[in-house]
Amino acid sequence: MKITIIGAGPGGYEAAIMAAKLGAEVTVIEKSEVGGTCLNFGCIPTKALLASKDVLTTSLEAEKFGVFNDHTTTDLKQIIERKDKIVSGLVKGIEFLFESNGINLVRGIGKLIDSKTVEVQRHDGRVETLASDKILLATGSVPICPEMFHYDGKKVITSIEALALKTPPKSMIVVGGGVIGCELGQFFAQMGTKITIVEMADQILSSEDESVAKQLVRQFKREKIKVLTANAITDVKVQDSGVVVTLKKGELLEAELMLLSIGRSSYSKGLNLEELGIKVDTKGQIEVNESLETSVKGIYAVGDLISTPYLAHVASKEGIIAAENMLGNNKTGVHKAIPRCVYTDPQVAAVGLTEKEAQQKGISYKTGSFDFRSLGKAQIIGKIQGQVKIIVNEHDVIIGASIIGPEATDLLTELTMAVHLGLTAEVLGDVIHPHPTLSEAIMEALHDVHGKSINKVLMRL
Ligand code: FAD
Repeated sequence: MKITIIGAGPGGYEAAIMAAKLGAEVTVIEKSEVGGTCLNFGCIPTKALLASKDVLTTSLEAEKFGVFNDHTTTDLKQIIERKDKIVSGLVKGIEFLFESNGINLVRGIGKLIDSKTVEVQRHDGRVETLASDKILLATGSVPICPEMFHYDGKKVITSIEALALKTPPKSMIVVGGGVIGCELGQFFAQMGTKITIVEMADQILSSEDESVAKQLVRQFKREKIKVLTANAITDVKVQDSGVVVTLKKGELLEAELMLLSIGRSSYSKGLNLEELGIKVDTKGQIEVNESLETSVKGIYAVGDLISTPYLAHVASKEGIIAAENMLGNNKTGVHKAIPRCVYTDPQVAAVGLTEKEAQQKGISYKTGSFDFRSLGKAQIIGKIQGQVKIIVNEHDVIIGASIIGPEATDLLTELTMAVHLGLTAEVLGDVIHPHPTLSEAIMEALHDVHGKSINKVLMRL
């Protein structure tokens, strides 16, 4: 079985390795570096920068732990160099995995000729035609840059340019208070940049629990990050000195740089979708069935190219499932529980429904919660902000959870598993959680669903 994959982001590269393991002859076409957005301009580089920020925060708070460290300074150039080293090491890692799994990596731009043929315009100028039994499209997404923002990559930038800045700007307007805006906004604030986040919705992280967003805004205020919600930018002027924007409510904002983080759109330019009759929705996302096959038999699509959440772990899982299906295995049910993570400080992590979504769906639900403040481990590490909140349906089945607090993104896995498997708060709450750990906050929140949290501090009048 010959499989050709266009795009080597997490969707494409994991599909390639799985297909090779299942015995296929695999060719991957990549126009840039393997690892895609996630490894080169997304998950890994942002978290590498945030890791430097965390070291800075710990260092600034060292005195509270009886540790004295008098001269804490930062050098963005070195932080970026560290990030670049991590990225290039991991890129080499994927190239090695390709080699060791016998995958043929072709550097160039791929496009569909028909349902069994892909053409590649190699970077060395050669054009090659690849006959394929099955084809996987995994070309990902690009940042949305509406014309009114005058994106130029210098004064008006996206996350791609932000991740390569060698000196922190004096000031930056962050357009969009979603995951990328919050993470990069907080990072640059810690580097000394005056940050203003402008968000159109009523809250930052608009798809997350309201109380979580409020707690994060409180932390942002402590760090002097200005957050303007329910506001929109109506005009942008790019000048030599920086950017001047007009807000809907009449206010003018000025900054050295403006970061566009208002979302991403599927990237299928030049793939020939229309010519082949591959159906796309109104947002340009390819339509797929449960097996991740497009409207043209034998052509599959995964990751940011389809309408599922634009997340690396979703793309990887879809890549693996698509590989299994291309090779005749019948795999579905990929999207039962999708973890959502924000690597700010405090971190935010959620799965399943928020309380508001449960209300909107008319579900009869109960919640349990627990504050990290009341937990020994949180006190020990000096990170007491935040809370775990669990939502269960009328049968006690966990249908959603939100965590804001230390290591929230790692803690979430237990609750993702619960939503995936349909576990009840009683069953999961019966599991012994080690002491002292942050995971005890989850156990206490599970017990709180039934009013049985031992360590929850109740506010009595
Ligand atoms: P991509 O990773 O975009 O890969 C697509 C690949 O296809 C690219 O390498 C591209 O060069 C190649 N390509 C495109 N067209 C062609 C063509 N015609 N021929 C050949 N090659 C082509 N997600 C998380 O889960 N966690 C995070 O913490 C996280 N942080 C992020 C931070 C930022 C700043 C950004 C921008 C994104 C972040 N994401 C995160 C999202 C994540 O990066 C994407 O969801 C993920 O990379 C999508 O994977 P993909 O394989 O669908 O596409």
